[in-house]
Amino acid sequence: MILLQNIRLDGAPVNLFIQGQRIFRILPFPQTEGLVADETVDCTGKAVIPGFINMHTHAAMILLRGITEDVPLDRWLAKIWAMEAKMDEEFIYWGTKAACLEMIKSGTTTFNDMYWFAPFARDAAVEMGIRPYISFVILDHFDRETAEKQRRKCIKLYERSLDWTESSHLAMSVHAVYTVSEEMILWASQFAVDHGMKLHIHLSETEKENLDCQKAHGGLSPTEYLDSLGVLGPHVIAAHSLWLSDRDIEILGKHRVNCVHNINSNAKLASGHRFRYDDLKAAGANVCLGTDGASSSNNLDMLETMKTTAMFQKAWRKDPSAMPLRDLMDAATVNGARALGLDTGVIREGAIADLSIVDTGNSYFLSPGSFLANFVYAAHSDTISSVIANGRFVMRDRVVPGEAEILTEARKVLKQIQ
Ligand SMILES: [Zn+2]
Repeated sequence: MILLQNIRLDGAPVNLFIQGQRIFRILPFPQTEGLVADETVDCTGKAVIPGFINMHTHAAMILLRGITEDVPLDRWLAKIWAMEAKMDEEFIYWGTKAACLEMIKSGTTTFNDMYWFAPFARDAAVEMGIRPYISFVILDHFDRETAEKQRRKCIKLYERSLDWTESSHLAMSVHAVYTVSEEMILWASQFAVDHGMKLHIHLSETEKENLDCQKAHGGLSPTEYLDSLGVLGPHVIAAHSLWLSDRDIEILGKHRVNCVHNINSNAKLASGHRFRYDDLKAAGANVCLGTDGASSSNNLDMLETMKTTAMFQKAWRKDPSAMPLRDLMDAATVNGARALGLDTGVIREGAIADLSIVDTGNSYFLSPGSFLANFVYAAHSDTISSVIANGRFVMRDRVVPGEAEILTEARKVLKQIQ
């Protein structure tokens, strides 16, 4: 048992006991109820928050950051796809490790990934101690032969994933309506439903995607098109969901779809910024936050994402009360847990112990302003001093085991794509 002693939770000092993977007891400090811990960590001057859940990543893309800048999405994708063609398992493994290193350092304990060589990404994350949702990515470019190959590979990976433990999961990904045939969208959707998997898809990321979809599918938006195929539901995780009509929002709400807002990627690629948070929430959709791949966003820092999200919501709505702090925190934590069906994202007895310890002994937290306000709007993620995932420390006092090796090996695999 681990005791986080005298740590602040929602402003009050508590003793937080962790046993195995879960939070065992939370008591007002200095009470212990006679519980004896194997390890006591003095957390005086520190606060505890739930680990972040990054709901849309392409983790290993971290090694491609900064290579293609200042171009629109279609040109950006063309360049990225050319480099991706040169990647192999080793590249993904070390790229994902480097991504996990950054995620841990910025307080992320679960991520929902859509990228290549899934088993290698999974191994990398599990070794780093955080929880990956890894997916098989369907992307057939409307080619029958590719589709057939992907079906076979997907089934194989699913069978392999049956041996995976609780701390990693396999999901299904459909890249987007503009890269995947109708036949494969339907196949992937059915496979996901049959095997109880999440279905992760890029949805209405750009205005062009919507216009092209309307042209190809008799005036239907991507949301209407997917609805017409019968693939939407609470197991669907729709990354971006940016260019939505009132009708789209009604559909996404009705089906309780999980919509992932990725503001840094959207703003930087000039895809748009008017994410309709209030309308989606009111309609019944579950809104989560993500960073997207670090080659578009350009990092995996959820705290930065939270701040940018709130700024853009307030600015385009012309409403300073838009995206309040509590909603922001929920979108970065418990809403992701809900989308993935995980008992985490909150700090309560019995929940999985995915936690970040924030050092408040610095100037950012001097004022009597609320912890959340100071954390989101003033501090940086390097105030996160330690991170616990699945009840185990994955970072202590800013030290993540294996960092030097990850940097060395990542530099080696980078030679492949140069
Ligand atoms: Zn993406």
